Amino acid sequence: DFVVVGVGITPSTQLAALAGVEVENGIKTDAQGRTSDPWIWSAGDCASFPYKGGRIRLESVPNAIDQAEVVAQNMMGAGKDYVATPWFWSDQYDVKLQIAGLNTGFDNVVTRAGDGRSTSFWYYKGDQLVAVDAMNDPRAYMVGKRLIDMGNTADKAVVADAAADLKSLLKA
Ligand SMILES: Cc1cc2nc3c(=O)[nH]c(=O)nc-3n(C[C@H](O)[C@H](O)[C@H](O)COP(=O)(O)OP(=O)(O)OC[C@H]3O[C@@H](n4cnc5c(N)ncnc54)[C@H](O)[C@@H]3O)c2cc1C
Repeated sequence: DFVVVGVGITPSTQLAALAGVEVENGIKTDAQGRTSDPWIWSAGDCASFPYKGGRIRLESVPNAIDQAEVVAQNMMGAGKDYVATPWFWSDQYDVKLQIAGLNTGFDNVVTRAGDGRSTSFWYYKGDQLVAVDAMNDPRAYMVGKRLIDMGNTADKAVVADAAADLKSLLKA
């Protein structure tokens, strides 16, 4: 009585492979978006790029736009690394989902109740905040994203206390 369908996860890399470009879970690029052929560049869902000591592909509209802008500038000679700050959104019926960070490797989660149909889940590795899933809770998303982008964490007691002002976390 419950079905989950996963669509659009496999990168389409046939053209790159035919062109002799290195493929490794996507079209392999350097930090600027250049593939193993210096005249060929890659951005968006299909690009596998360096991230925090490993490689990653990000499947989201924000990444496709931000990365494409940087890679296009690099094709014109800008020489800028693309530094991803992963975030995602989706509207599912009456639920607005906003996700900041990546929860890969989390080992504990703090749930924060919101008003009515809003709630948020705060993912930690130890005491370090790594991601926030916010449902109908733009404030939780905004505060979580700023903390994650700055490399800061969030006091779990404040997060868990629905009466506490989340913005106080930005002053800490
Ligand atoms: C079901 C679904 C729901 C999603 N929901 C969300 C969401 O809510 N929020 C969000 O942020 N992201 C969402 N995404 C992800 C989002 O759609 C992608 O991250 C985004 O479209 C990536 O843009 P892109 O330009 O990199 O790739 P794409 O939009 O996939 O464009 C690649 C294009 O290249 C074409 N192509 C591939 N191979 C060849 C070839 N050999 N020759 C010519 N053309 C080729 C393809 O046909 C396609 O048109 C969703 C994806 C799916 C599948």
